[in-house]
Amino acid sequence: MTDLIDQLRDCVGADHVLTEGDLTAWEQDWRKRARGKARAVVRPSSTAEVAAVVRACAAAGAALVPQGGNTGLVVGGIPDASGTQVLLSLQRMQAVRGIDRENLTMTVEAGCVLQSVQDAAEAAGLLFPLSLAAEGSCTIGGNLATNAGGTQVLRYGNARDLCLGLEVVTAQGEVWDGLAGLRKDNTGYDLRDLYIGSEGTLGIITAATLKLYPLPAATLTAWAAVPSMEAAVRLLGLAQARLASSLTGFEVMGQFALSLVVRHMPQLRVPFADASPWGVLLEASDHESEAHARAGFEALLEAALEDGCATDAVVAENIAQARALWHVRESIPLAQAQEGLNVKHDISVPISRIPAFCATTDAILQREIPGVRLVNFGHLGDGNLHYNVQAPAGDAAPAFLARHEDVVNRLVYDQVHAHGGSISAEHGVGELKAATLPKYKSPVALGLMQAVKRALDPQGILNPGRVVQG
Ligand code: FAD
Ligand code: ZN
Repeated sequence: MTDLIDQLRDCVGADHVLTEGDLTAWEQDWRKRARGKARAVVRPSSTAEVAAVVRACAAAGAALVPQGGNTGLVVGGIPDASGTQVLLSLQRMQAVRGIDRENLTMTVEAGCVLQSVQDAAEAAGLLFPLSLAAEGSCTIGGNLATNAGGTQVLRYGNARDLCLGLEVVTAQGEVWDGLAGLRKDNTGYDLRDLYIGSEGTLGIITAATLKLYPLPAATLTAWAAVPSMEAAVRLLGLAQARLASSLTGFEVMGQFALSLVVRHMPQLRVPFADASPWGVLLEASDHESEAHARAGFEALLEAALEDGCATDAVVAENIAQARALWHVRESIPLAQAQEGLNVKHDISVPISRIPAFCATTDAILQREIPGVRLVNFGHLGDGNLHYNVQAPAGDAAPAFLARHEDVVNRLVYDQVHAHGGSISAEHGVGELKAATLPKYKSPVALGLMQAVKRALDPQGILNPGRVVQG
């Protein structure tokens, strides 16, 4: 029997099976908190090659870890430390297979970088609305495998809502072609929705048919200073009532999160930085005209000032100003990293319960770890907060994490659970949350998930140990 590495070389060509040299880019996660060791990094260029690689690994009983842009935040896309897992990188599969203008769809290969998918849609005069800060390096395969969210979910939904079909290589190395691009298809179980969000544990996504939208005539951005989380939720209600489906983004940022941007990125101008406990970024897309959008936005903000749910507001005058406002929002992750590692959360609760969740959890954390600082920001329009917990001022981050990470996670997740929420709103489970999930997910749901895993991957070779354990 030939060695697995030789077989993989036969599948994709010797140049695309990497076993030595610096493999950090594939073996280390984006946050640099985990590092594994791959038996080989394999880089197929076609669906047939992916299928051949999977068949070879299945025959050898070797585990496979699919990877796109390696920007995932839950340690799901890197190999474990055993040196036995094959890292399957989809990065060479970047073809745009076609755009169907009348069907408003586009079929792309899994390794296409999100930004190039957006660009290809725009070049065809259309919009692919999925947008997140990692869009310059994450891939559409990774976005679908994690059911990524981002900043446009409020209007367009998660990655799942933007996908009409998939092509998948199964754990047995067969190819399922589900790329038809149908908006209606009730011929049985929805296999597409089973693979979306499965984080590489059920099959390898090799291509997808995506939903496109007409490009809006104008997109406007505004920033409001907001006195409390209750007020932010009220502002959201007002914006939804007045702007309806034109409201495409609604992001909330706590004062401490913004103060980190002020401190670590002094070149950025943060509106009303010291003047209010919360900042809200609103985006509206209008299909009529910029003047129409501006009038709608100004009327909304006037009503908000009158109501008291905003104490000050500014509408960006032009694209450069709008980008600068978004840049502030998108700089929070980097600014907090410069302040030192913190305990990150990606939680969701029903929007109506967000103020109570924040008030209770803030108070519990302050009581248990006095002086702890909250980097609280996120996609309020989706009920999704990145509720991150930073060491008290002056405390060293590594010592804080070593001492408090587990207890902080428990305190926060218990409150999420008590408020009817989810411990992973958009980043997924990966390895990071796989052991925690059983504490908060119903045994019935977990049992069904395990049954699906056993049915689709009976050998347990696809991304073992991630999402579901046992
Ligand atoms: P990877 O990191 O390579 O993989 C992620 C998971 O998907 C792994 O489990 C992997 O095994 C699996 N996978 C990858 N490709 C395939 C495939 N073709 N078939 C099957 N499985 C596959 N996420 C959000 O939801 N919203 C955000 O706003 C957001 N912002 C971010 C901002 C930054 C700066 C960063 C670094 C990340 C952010 N993320 C966000 C995390 C998000 O999950 C990823 O950016 C993205 O969706 C993952 O794509 P990727 O190609 O990098 O996947
Ligand atoms: Zn996010």
